This record gives sequence, C-alpha cells and structure tokens, in this order.
Amino acid sequence: MSKLSSREFAVSQDANDPLSKLRERFHIPQHEGEDVMYFTGNSLGLQPKAAKQYIEEELEDWKNLGVEGHVHARRPWMPYHENFTKSLARIVGGKESEVVAIGTLTNNLHLLMVSFYRPTEKRYKILCEAKAFPSDQYALASQARFHGFDPKDAIIEIAPREGEHTIREEDFISAIENHGDEIAMMMVGGVNYYTGQVFDMEKLTKIAQDKGILVGWDLAHGVGNIELKLNEWNVDFAAWCSYKYLNSGPGSIAGIYINEKHHGKKNIPRFEGWWGHDKSSRFAMPDQFEPIPTAEAWQLSNVPVLAMAAHRASLDLFDEVSLDELRARGRRLSNYLREVLHEVAKLTNREIEIITPNNEKESGCQVSVLFPGLGKDLFDKLLAKGVIADWREPHVIRLAPVPMYSSFEDIYRFGETLLATLEEA
Ligand SMILES: *Cc1c(COP(=O)(O)O)cnc(C)c1O
Repeated sequence: MSKLSSREFAVSQDANDPLSKLRERFHIPQHEGEDVMYFTGNSLGLQPKAAKQYIEEELEDWKNLGVEGHVHARRPWMPYHENFTKSLARIVGGKESEVVAIGTLTNNLHLLMVSFYRPTEKRYKILCEAKAFPSDQYALASQARFHGFDPKDAIIEIAPREGEHTIREEDFISAIENHGDEIAMMMVGGVNYYTGQVFDMEKLTKIAQDKGILVGWDLAHGVGNIELKLNEWNVDFAAWCSYKYLNSGPGSIAGIYINEKHHGKKNIPRFEGWWGHDKSSRFAMPDQFEPIPTAEAWQLSNVPVLAMAAHRASLDLFDEVSLDELRARGRRLSNYLREVLHEVAKLTNREIEIITPNNEKESGCQVSVLFPGLGKDLFDKLLAKGVIADWREPHVIRLAPVPMYSSFEDIYRFGETLLATLEEA
C-alpha cells in the first residue's frame, strides 16, 4: 500500500469528468503491459487513433486518382488547408481570415519577421525573453545579422532576476519604457517552454504597441493549452507548431496568425509564392503576384496533405469539445499534480521546488519541477519505471498532464512511482 493519500480522489475525478472519455481516442504507449505515465504532450502529443484512417484515405485517393486528387479527392487537396481555418481560429481566438495552417514553426518565424521585423537605423532592436527556446534565439539573432546589426547590441533579453526562476512582467515593461523608441519588434514565447510561465499577452502587447513596437508571440506552448484571444488582444502576429498540445504528429504542419489590420497592405514586405496568390487567377499563372486578402497571402507552396491529414484527426477532437472545459480540466490536472508533489516532498522530507508560477493567469498545464541535489539519475530511474517526462539541463523535470488524454490516475501512479524512487535513493 502506498502512503500517498488520494488514489480514491484520482479515480473519482476521472470517473466524474465527461472529458475523460477523450483518452480512448488516443494511442497510449505501453510499458510492461500498462499505459506509460505520459507527461510530455508539451513536446510531442500522442497519436489520435483516427490519424491512421485519415492518412490512409489520402493515400487511397492518391492511389486511385493521381493528380485528379487535387480537385476530386474526398477532401480536395488544393484547398486542403482550408479544412483547418475554423478550428484554428477558435483555438487562437482569431478571425478565420487571420489564421492559416502553413509550413513549420521556425520557418514561419522567419517568414513573419520578413514582414514584421523592419528595422531602421534608429529603431532596430528586438525585445525577447532570455533563454527563449534555442530555435527562436537563433532565428532572432540571424535576422538581426541579416539586417546588418550585431545581435549583442540589437537583442534585448529580459531575464529572471537573481535568485528567481521566472521573469517579472514589470521588467518587460520597464525595458519597453526605457528603450521603446529603439525597439522595432517584440517577440516572446507566450508560454515559456522551460518554466511554463504564461505572460499577460494582452497587457504587454498594448504597452509595446503604444510605443510603436510590432508584437508577435510564439505560441508553441500556448495553443491547445491556454486561453488565447489574439484578435481581441490586437496581437500583430503569432506562430505555433502542431505537434505539441495539438497532437498532429512529429514535425507536422504549423500555423500562423496575422492580424487583419496587416492584410491587403501594399507596403508590407513579404516573401511570396504561388499559394499566396489570388485563388481565382492562380492557375492562369500570371506574372504579377496578386495577394489573397487574408493570412493566406503568406503561403508559399501547395500543401503537405499527408501531414495535414493527421492535423485534421487532431483538430476534429478539439472541435468536439468546449475549449473552456478542456482548459479547466488541464488546470485541475496540474493542481492535482502539484498536490501530489507536495505530498511526496513531505513524506520523503525532501525539497521539491515547483518553478512554474502557481496562479491561473501565469500558468497552463505544464509544471516544471526542480529536485535539488538529484540529477538526471532520478529522471532515468523514473523513465525505467514508465514515467515519460522531460529532462532539461541543468536540473528541471518538466511534466505536462494534458487535458486531452492525461488522467488523474496517471498522476497518482506517478506520485507512487516518484515516492518509491526517492525512498530507494
Ligand atoms: C517546439 C518549439 C520550437 C520548435 O521549432 P520547429 O521549427 O518546429 O522545429 C520552436 N520554438 C519554440 C518556442 C518551441 O516550443
């Protein structure tokens, strides 16, 4: 018998929540005949069972129709990306004209910066968070260099204060107030990938825009996790990937948001391709580019239908549920995880420090945990017992119980496993 107190609570929470049924719609990897305890939906979401059928349908249509599938497939390939417009608009809180499923995240960040990082001699700086996801850091630095600036001078990074783990919003605000006239663009992860900290995107967007700064958010850890209202918040642009909380498969199709106020503008620089060209005249192959008057103008190529079929399997599940209820479940799961961690800390007389902020506005379902004095060794032992978590140097374990398929029982079993492992140590 475990000393952990709340198995009954976990089981009843699962039994009483209608959203628990969503779990059956996913493949859960197995470990020694049992479901693994999967807490890395923030890194790679699990596979929706429907994904295989959806991909097979496209393979069938390709087999039977060849090029005709562009127009005559069950879901014609030419406008295939339009299958996602409604779902994505709902998930990010944008208008349908403001979103498009496109490319991959880092590629898209560069495409968006062609349009929204337009430095001048006086206003050329980029405001971002320190220790952003490395790909974002590389993208920002290379954009600064591309425009002839030294990243050391051009990039202003806001870091947590000495002895703190998360960033104070007031430090962003004072950077904006002190350097606003020099900053061309602010681009920050709306949810920090490492700490799980959620920024007040509405407030920071407004304060930065009041200083003439264009504002973009990287929502790789935001979509499918927290509430987003990009249009209401007047965000200029945003980008995300679909393989984390959106469960669409490794490297699958990403997405962007571009505020409608930037559509149809002639003076906005943009890298262009035929898929961004007006649909009615695209196949007349005219010499002159005529942009689609929506975010679709940023599309370059015809679309990767096989990857998109898996995206569709996942977004269909999002369409079935209330996003508010889904997020509420995510919150209940992560609150329970926090309780279990506290209980294990007490029972083992160890310090277990949660570095993710503990309030609704500043966190999603991810909980980042520091185990002082215990290194990767603990993580490896947990992995050997079927706990799939995520280790980040120097000593943080990230755990994301995701509302779509994680269960309270997963968390209970994790607590038992952690307790036993710490007691052995
Ligand atoms: C996951 C993630 C990426 C990954 O970028 P890809 O181009 O999809 O490989 C980039 N930035 C952030 C913030 C992420 O969380």
